[in-house]
Amino acid sequence: MLIKGQIPTKEPNVSIGLVLPEDQQKSVTIKSSDSKSEHQILVQNDTLLLDGNPLPRIHFNRSTSDSYFTIHPIRAGRGFHWEKHISIQVLGSINISIKDGALFVINQIPVEQYLMCVATSEMSGDCPPALLESQTIAARSWLLAADEQKHAHLELDACNDDCCQRYQGMGNLTETAKKASLSTRGKVIMHHEAICDTRYSKSCGGVSESNESVWEESAKPYLRAIHDSPNSTLPDLQSNENFEYWYSQDSDCFCSPRIVPENELHQYLGHVDKSGSYFRWDVSFKQEELIKLISNKTNNPYDSIQSIKPLKRGLSGRIIQLEIKGQLKGIESIIILDSEYEIRRVLHPNFMFSSAFFIKYSIDRHSNIEEISFYGAGWGHGAGLCQIGALGMALNHYSTEEILNHYFKSTELEKIYD
Ligand SMILES: [Zn+2]
Ligand SMILES: [Zn+2]
Repeated sequence: MLIKGQIPTKEPNVSIGLVLPEDQQKSVTIKSSDSKSEHQILVQNDTLLLDGNPLPRIHFNRSTSDSYFTIHPIRAGRGFHWEKHISIQVLGSINISIKDGALFVINQIPVEQYLMCVATSEMSGDCPPALLESQTIAARSWLLAADEQKHAHLELDACNDDCCQRYQGMGNLTETAKKASLSTRGKVIMHHEAICDTRYSKSCGGVSESNESVWEESAKPYLRAIHDSPNSTLPDLQSNENFEYWYSQDSDCFCSPRIVPENELHQYLGHVDKSGSYFRWDVSFKQEELIKLISNKTNNPYDSIQSIKPLKRGLSGRIIQLEIKGQLKGIESIIILDSEYEIRRVLHPNFMFSSAFFIKYSIDRHSNIEEISFYGAGWGHGAGLCQIGALGMALNHYSTEEILNHYFKSTELEKIYD
């Protein structure tokens, strides 16, 4: 595993979880590109079986330097609205064991081979080189900073998914993507001699968010809210009125449809991304839907929902504290949701696209919400690099360094290994 604060001096190998114990997956097939046979791996009665033969663990090594493995099925988008099962092709070696009564599949791989696939899993291999280079450098810096390490208890550097960063194998690679990864080999973003924990998300919606408003952690100097526009002045979006006014104005932000038209966007997104309105969106629920939704998500059997009120917004307008008032078994109940993640989780059957929204609703004669609409900006947590904004900059001929300096202020690009 990578160690936080330690800067690698040569290319490290990393451990990436492909099938996690939490998936409770009991079977997987693996095929090597240079063999005709496909291996069936099963967990039955707490025993690991390779083509029917019990083994304590299974290890696959590549037989030649250009061979690869095809593995199926792999979960992608765990818990998000785009979740699906995919097949992936990977380099490196494969380790399989049993954990918590289910399969645990790890891909051990040199970091540059892994990163080549991350850029084209997060975004399309048809993106302009400056976008693919920026995305690769952000993905490399995030991993090597080893600041989050969400799966340290499994001794993984990352999982294959949006939870860490998307890794869907070599299936989407293009020549431009391979070149982008080779030309940035070993390059990371640094601040005060440490590798930056470079977060990123799909669309900031016009203003990116400061990290401490999204996660319970201290403020990082390079993860500040920025106006995703050539005009760097930050609009004031912390009141409901200001946010609503700003939302409805025409925008020249890098992630806006004026710079990246929505009907052209799909060719640049990752292949699991749904097409949709990333910059501005809206979603509505009727009282019955709202009761069901909030009851399910909070494990409280609500009789009615009476109001939903933003209490606090971050600098991007993302709501970071929100109040829900309703009747619970005949008694008034107020709950406060205290993070953008919790707000997005509770207010949508899957996951709200972002918490940068304003609310409009009508009230029925029982003082309950009749119908509620959320009008929102951006997709994702909004901190760090805005992927669609970076695409907009790349399409407008900004360089890789300009893109990275725009989203990650006061940082330097450095090559840490050859
Ligand atoms: Zn993860
Ligand atoms: Zn943006």
